[in-house]
Amino acid sequence: MALIQPGRIRVVKQATTRVEESGPVVYWMFRDQRLRDNWGLIHAVDEANKANVSVVVAFNLFEEFLGAKARQLGFMLRGLKELQRGLEETLDIPFFLFEGEAVETIPRFIAECGASLLVTDFSPLRQVRKWNEEICNCIGDSVSMHQVDAHNVVPTWEASPKLEYSARTFRAKINKLLPTYLIHFPILPPPNRKWVAEFPLTDWDNLIAHVLRKGAEVPELEWCVPGEAAAFQLLSGIKDGFLSKRLYNYSTDRNNPLKPKGLSGLSPYLHFGQISAQRCALEARSLRELHPQSVDAFLEELIVRRELSDNFCFYQPHYDSLLGAWEWARKTLMDHAPDKRQHLYTCEQLEKAKTADPLWNASQLEMVHHGKMHDIGCSRMYWAKKILEWTTGPEEALSISIYLNNKYEIDGRDPSGYVGCMWSICGVHDQGWQERPIFGKIRYMNYAGCKRKFDVDGYIAYVKRLGRNQEEESRKRGRSSIEGISDLKIRDSRDTE
Ligand SMILES: Cc1cc2nc3c(=O)[nH]c(=O)nc-3n(C[C@H](O)[C@H](O)[C@H](O)COP(=O)(O)OP(=O)(O)OC[C@H]3O[C@@H](n4cnc5c(N)ncnc54)[C@H](O)[C@@H]3O)c2cc1C
Repeated sequence: MALIQPGRIRVVKQATTRVEESGPVVYWMFRDQRLRDNWGLIHAVDEANKANVSVVVAFNLFEEFLGAKARQLGFMLRGLKELQRGLEETLDIPFFLFEGEAVETIPRFIAECGASLLVTDFSPLRQVRKWNEEICNCIGDSVSMHQVDAHNVVPTWEASPKLEYSARTFRAKINKLLPTYLIHFPILPPPNRKWVAEFPLTDWDNLIAHVLRKGAEVPELEWCVPGEAAAFQLLSGIKDGFLSKRLYNYSTDRNNPLKPKGLSGLSPYLHFGQISAQRCALEARSLRELHPQSVDAFLEELIVRRELSDNFCFYQPHYDSLLGAWEWARKTLMDHAPDKRQHLYTCEQLEKAKTADPLWNASQLEMVHHGKMHDIGCSRMYWAKKILEWTTGPEEALSISIYLNNKYEIDGRDPSGYVGCMWSICGVHDQGWQERPIFGKIRYMNYAGCKRKFDVDGYIAYVKRLGRNQEEESRKRGRSSIEGISDLKIRDSRDTE
């Protein structure tokens, strides 16, 4: 019996020639960096066992990927270090870490070890898709290539065959497929055939030190412990786990700035694939009788909204530009591009949180120093919309918001980040609203509206406290804070230069 539903796998390439190879199945891991609940790994082991060959995991560390700095790379590599140990100790599977261009390292490795099957995971981002295509063209005719969507509960290509207009159109499709895909994971069988050659040694400490030096501009976060074990603690740990301690108030507390733990906090782990969204959904669903509203709200975000982002990036080639907006939104934004702005800020001024709006500055500083902007009362949306109001036009606003989001957010460089910016600035997945200056028909948000929605002053005070604590921590550890943005005082319109 197949361990994995056929719809989760795409046969990208079927080998056309057969050779009597007994090389391993190679799983090129990219987006789903975990041992547990990983459909990519399950499929690789399953195929290896059927062919009676061994299985290996390969990971390629790129010289540069979407501007990742020490914050993101440190988190990722520490997670991978834990993963390597887990793979070797529990499954006897070797983990090969390559550096450079995957289009060179992966095909070379496949040729060297005589593999006949390459398994990859799935990301809708264009760079990753291009690498997949190039690798597919480079591996010989005797190698098949399978892609597994191990990230989404419902595989993106199964959820919908087209670009969805909104959550409303997507929700019905996803819900119909949940009985098929939101199922328990099979127990991962150990590989029948072991890898007989030497296990690779990775000098993690040196590698991590190198990426931290190189990306020092955006330092690592103290509060966000990387790895699968930490992810599971956060999901359901006894002490402060989301499901064990915080879920019951999710539907109300997530909009309260004085309760920063009102949200799950899972996005960094979901982004790096250190936890499976399907696992989170299964565990949450099992508590539905106790907390129906919170579970429904969480599943809406975790499945519908998150997977709608993958749908957008998969089917919309212009997912990070004005060209990716619907016609009505493009027109209204361009009609209002010449409108007079009360303030015009440069990217540098925005990056350094030097605006006249204390709420915006607080959000920006929370992101820069804490690495995750709390999404209370839609503050991420407010943050992005204000950039539209304060820059020369929608294209510039979009590019600045994506640049800042990718650079500082620990969960940045994710389809949900691109879609979050596109939703806020270009009305993607939204509808038209009453026309007004600059925004046209794009949904408008202002300071007064936020004040009605949540305790703005409480949030600003919270970010100030956060800044003070962090400065103290950095001093204790002899670390400097982010260059040029070390001023954690939040300016407001009453501040003088
Ligand atoms: C301008 C802007 C930028 C954003 N940038 C990112 C980003 O870079 N990375 C990122 O993961 N999310 C991003 N989001 C979406 C959302 O704000 C975050 O996913 C959420 O705040 C993460 O915190 P959490 O895990 O504690 O959320 P929870 O409320 O606990 O949600 C659980 C999970 O559901 C998913 N989710 C929640 N809200 C959304 C949403 N609106 N859209 C899609 N998925 C959602 C996330 O995977 C999240 O981890 C952005 C939103 C906006 C408006």
